[in-house]
Amino acid sequence: MRLLQVKRAGDASAGVSAGAARCFHTSGRCAAPPLFWLLFKPIAKISVVISGRVFRQWWKVLPKEKRGDIFAGHLKRHYGKYLGTAAVIGGTVTVYYFTHLQRTPITNRERFIAFTPNQFNSIADVEYNMHGQIFVFGGMLETVTNPHQLGIILGHEMAHAILGHAAEQVSFLQLVDCLSICVVAAIWALFPSDWMALLSHWLQNKFAKLLLEMPYSRMLETEADEVGLQLAAKACFDVRESAAFWERMALQDDMEEKVDLDWLSTHPTHEQRAQHLEQLLPQAIELRKSCQCLPLNTEDPLRPFRALREGLKTGEVQTARVLIGTPLQKSSTQGGTVVAQNLTDEK
Ligand SMILES: [Zn+2]
Repeated sequence: MRLLQVKRAGDASAGVSAGAARCFHTSGRCAAPPLFWLLFKPIAKISVVISGRVFRQWWKVLPKEKRGDIFAGHLKRHYGKYLGTAAVIGGTVTVYYFTHLQRTPITNRERFIAFTPNQFNSIADVEYNMHGQIFVFGGMLETVTNPHQLGIILGHEMAHAILGHAAEQVSFLQLVDCLSICVVAAIWALFPSDWMALLSHWLQNKFAKLLLEMPYSRMLETEADEVGLQLAAKACFDVRESAAFWERMALQDDMEEKVDLDWLSTHPTHEQRAQHLEQLLPQAIELRKSCQCLPLNTEDPLRPFRALREGLKTGEVQTARVLIGTPLQKSSTQGGTVVAQNLTDEK
């Protein structure tokens, strides 16, 4: 939360002069200490499970015919405590949420970040073992077919770092956990046996992943593709290779008859990424031009992929399979290089 302190107030009616503006100081961000975030989740989860179970045991031993009356009486006696606790917890979460909203650099999107950068660094070191490096594995070098594609992949990873996606994702997970606490408490209180509660708890986790975490992750990936493309354009890479790279991956999926379901994944499908990047190409090419880069090669690297895709649709499937089926696979070595070069007309 930022608090504005005025050390020496200027004449308000006269407006804020340059001198007066220098008298404004902002306090540092107030945020919970990192240890709080590390301990909060496990402690909250365990206490909610225990409370739910205690309620269930208590309910079970009550005489069946009097359960309703006893429960109503209990609520009547303690409703103040329950309401107060709910109001304090709900109020704290709401205030914490709204005072920790900030805008992403470049894309200017509003998002919730639970930590200050320093706090996130210490949490990342302890819990997530992230140190801000970008690793390029050998497999990646085999997958890309030219330096432009590698530049675009690195741009994507740099975009994740610049946009602070790691802190945002962890913050979002904390928020989802916070909100799911009521559901978990209800599961452990209402389901008649421990194993049923355990199963429902597991299902609840899976649903939260499918309906909240994965779509959020896909949104961050799409944003990183967008910003990564801008970085690659500014670095004078051939931005058309971005869509060509994902087109090639999509084509490989098609040929291996892999089913790529985006809703089951933390990333959009290869095809979605190719299409999204292709839509962004006109702006990226303009941006590249404005950076006085050398003109792009006249041969569009996307053209062969468009032709192949069209061929696959119109029944020339077998031809395409023979042409690039085996060589496009990552595991094949020599053939892959040759055909990939033919496809992208390496400059
Ligand atoms: Zn990514």
